[in-house]
Amino acid sequence: MTTVTPLRRDGGPFVLPAAFVAGATMHADDARHATAIHNASTGETIGWQEPASAAQIDAAVRAAHDALGAWRATPPAARGKLLRKIAELIEADRARLAAMQMQVSGKPPFEADLDVSDAVATFTYYGDLCAETGAFAPETIALPDETVTGERYYEAVGVAALIVPWNFPMVTTAWKLAPALAAGCTVVLKPSELTSPVEHLLAQIVSEAGVPDGVVNLVNGGGEVGAQLTAHPLVDKISFTGSTAVGRKVMQTAALDMKRVTLELGGKSALIVRADADIDHAVSLAVSGAFANAGQMCSATARILVQDDVYRKFMAAFETAVRAVNVGAPGVEQVSMGPLISQAQRARVQALVEQGVAAGAQIAFSGNADRARGAGFFMAPVVVAEPDADNVLWTDEVFGPVACVKSFRTDDEAIALANATRYGLVATVVTQDAGAQRRYKAELRAGLVWINTPQLIFPQVCWGGMGLSGIGRELGLAGLRSYQELRHTVAAAG
Ligand code: NAD
Repeated sequence: MTTVTPLRRDGGPFVLPAAFVAGATMHADDARHATAIHNASTGETIGWQEPASAAQIDAAVRAAHDALGAWRATPPAARGKLLRKIAELIEADRARLAAMQMQVSGKPPFEADLDVSDAVATFTYYGDLCAETGAFAPETIALPDETVTGERYYEAVGVAALIVPWNFPMVTTAWKLAPALAAGCTVVLKPSELTSPVEHLLAQIVSEAGVPDGVVNLVNGGGEVGAQLTAHPLVDKISFTGSTAVGRKVMQTAALDMKRVTLELGGKSALIVRADADIDHAVSLAVSGAFANAGQMCSATARILVQDDVYRKFMAAFETAVRAVNVGAPGVEQVSMGPLISQAQRARVQALVEQGVAAGAQIAFSGNADRARGAGFFMAPVVVAEPDADNVLWTDEVFGPVACVKSFRTDDEAIALANATRYGLVATVVTQDAGAQRRYKAELRAGLVWINTPQLIFPQVCWGGMGLSGIGRELGLAGLRSYQELRHTVAAAG
């Protein structure tokens, strides 16, 4: 039996324990170090989180290490059954998980609900993959020598440290936890210090599903805790999602022990609207691509490129749509955009806008946040027209509701502009022309290209980027393989 402390159901302030190790909660020696967790749409403190100590981080990694042998030896089909059970329990707890996301991050109801659906789909997908023997069974390799036989097989990497950011806490955790468990890894999860309550609920669910104690452990805290976790010598693999700046540090730490790394980092992605596009559809993709989750998306298509011939028409329709974005708390009727995650994040985004404007960027129009009352961290969407190519709003990841629009004449020019960034996460192209679709698909430098669709995400489709957007891929079969070592044997025949 586990002893996870339940979050308070009466809505009163909760205290999240410092760690969840081998099925038991661990509290901080000194509760005065607990940090506040806020409701982003009211600014109120709704709970506290105790940071894990060095000894608790060590205990969590050792628990994962001790549980590794038995979990790795558990048949994939049995692991898959537990993953599908987790998916069922998440589904059964949908309302509470969505409510927690709304309470902490201020996500509108449809966005909070979408996150739960994504987590369910991810655990289901990897549960099903475990049942497919093809993903796990050793494969014979044909060799040009009859005196030997060759075999290829995959083995769990070992103990995985999973570090996640605050923008899609449950989703990002599911993308790591499900394939890690499917592969036979044991884990220590470190949620973002801003959004950890939802991961505590997930840890309870994992435990209720019957995943053996020690297989999933959790430590609370910020960058210092993350740094100590990644440096632990018994960690074999680090899967990190966050900023490129921290990703660099993680990779440097990993290099000391040659730990395996998957890095899902930032982006500055493009959405390209060709003259033949359906403009209403293009506008709807631009609004969701730039302002979903209040623009706090690594995949935000915040650089919008519009072909000359339809630029004016696009801008007029875009302005109408942006002014109709309904910024507010989850309880506001027909809310379509929530707050930023914190006071600090809003200040950071506003400072970038001021910096961009001081350097010459023109704000073409803004939305309004009139219905967003109180002390929440709301901000109206902002659209900048024709910034210089070296303007900070065009070059840097803003991670807030700020989009730039630039016009282009030819496909060559659009591709050059889209690729003129060191990031390479995603891109969206809006065109009916089949030849143009083929060309953009081939020439845009991005891990995932959407053609005439919103940012649809399926667990079958891998996620990850080029350049400063990271290393490796999550989701899909590659996501599973990223938690496995590829091994071979060559043996004398007969
Ligand atoms: P962040 O890099 O500040 O923090 C991410 C996580 O790393 C947090 O849990 C944090 O506590 C931890 N951390 C901080 N310093 C650390 C260190 N030295 N060692 C180990 N862990 C450390 O990012 P954030 O502000 O939480 O999230 C926003 C960033 O995440 C954006 O840049 C965004 O693009 C990126 N992101 C990328 C993806 C993707 O899939 N590519 C998805 C979501 C977010």
